[in-house]
Amino acid sequence: MTRDPDCIFCKIVAGEIPSFKLYEDADTFAFMDINPVNDGHALVIPKEHAESLYATSGSALAATVLTAKRVAVAVDRALAPSGLNLVQANGPGAAQSVMHVHVHVVPRRFDDATLLNWRLEPGDMDAIAATAERIRVAMD
Ligand code: AMP
Ligand code: ZN
Repeated sequence: MTRDPDCIFCKIVAGEIPSFKLYEDADTFAFMDINPVNDGHALVIPKEHAESLYATSGSALAATVLTAKRVAVAVDRALAPSGLNLVQANGPGAAQSVMHVHVHVVPRRFDDATLLNWRLEPGDMDAIAATAERIRVAMD
């Protein structure tokens, strides 16, 4: 499994820095975003390090999309949003800030006024942990 010792998401996969983990399998890892644009904002990554979509292997990408669906279904069950976006950024022009490919799972509300290039605002860690538990128990 390719890994970058300086990559924050590789460190999360390895358990070297903490995360609000939602799900893990052989190829993928899902956890809560700590600067949530909306309640329930989660991230899904391949364990194999690749900077962006362009460098991601087909098998890692396929596994990541399947896990993103699994997390999205759990978020929908747990939080009953009005809708949900999967967002995936590549490069600075797309506001990619972490250079390990990832898919954002973003629950939406009709009145949330969420923009695609949102500002990073630290979340309430207790609230994130509580929401993570609601999603975990809703996951198949
Ligand atoms: P992007 O800007 O599309 O590259 O998304 C990267 C996301 O990673 C941002 O939404 C950050 O809030 C999130 N993020 C960065 N560091 C962490 C971390 N240690 N734990 C959880 N989420 C993180
Ligand atoms: Zn990485």
